[in-house]
Amino acid sequence: MGQNLRFLGIVAHPHDFTHFAGTLGVQTALGDTATVVSMTAGVGTHNEKLATELMKPPSEQDPAIINQPAEERAEEKIDELRRACAIFGVTDVRVLGYPDKPFVFERHPDAAEKLREIILEVRPHVIFSQSPYLKGPHGHKSGVQNDHTETANATEMAKSISTLPRLGSGQAPHTVAATYFPGVYFEHEEWDFTVDVSEWFEQRVEAEATYVSQGHTQGYARRRMTLVLGNIGSSVGTMYAEAFVRDKVELLSNITLPESLLKLETQTKLEQIEAITGGGNP
Ligand SMILES: [Zn+2]
Repeated sequence: MGQNLRFLGIVAHPHDFTHFAGTLGVQTALGDTATVVSMTAGVGTHNEKLATELMKPPSEQDPAIINQPAEERAEEKIDELRRACAIFGVTDVRVLGYPDKPFVFERHPDAAEKLREIILEVRPHVIFSQSPYLKGPHGHKSGVQNDHTETANATEMAKSISTLPRLGSGQAPHTVAATYFPGVYFEHEEWDFTVDVSEWFEQRVEAEATYVSQGHTQGYARRRMTLVLGNIGSSVGTMYAEAFVRDKVELLSNITLPESLLKLETQTKLEQIEAITGGGNP
């Protein structure tokens, strides 16, 4: 059934991979392989425990939280990422350990070189990348630095230099067939396609709840996934879906339609409602 594809996700922070986690679950279940690389351990990102503590008067602050060593925080974050990835069959997880908030590609030009090494080792067919665009009505290329767009730029550079033969390297160059950006960085009307992750909903909730270091709870995880994945899903006639934007036009050998569209020909309105609700609602 599957094409034995190799997927590579390159993200800025440990939580960013969740935006395509369900899709990786779908693919690994088909026998495809996946690697996830986080540029940073996300030490400076979403430290809600620290923020809460710092809001208190100094006499009430917990010194264990205020003075937590960065390495310990990094270990927590990396452990969460590994556990979240494992839920979707992803065991090859790498954290490059660049500083976050900010991660500035210009200050760490070796980042592209490290990503090139990974690309030449993994030789991915598909890269899930951070979007180089700022979300907004004009979708313009980011002029403002943020960790996500900087990671996208490092990824673009890495992909580009991976295509070039290098003297003395002994390695064959590699061209990545397709790059997809998670739809969360775009407006709804900019999405190119969605992947049905209804079967992976509970795993998405579990993964979301794994990120305790950024204040996630079971209740929050379920609510967030219901709203985010449910919003995408209901717009395309299923319970839960993840959205993507292609980085380039794809050449098709012919037009084939997915089951989800073909069945529209005979599906009644009631059956369409049932598809969105999972048939569980009276
Ligand atoms: Zn992020």
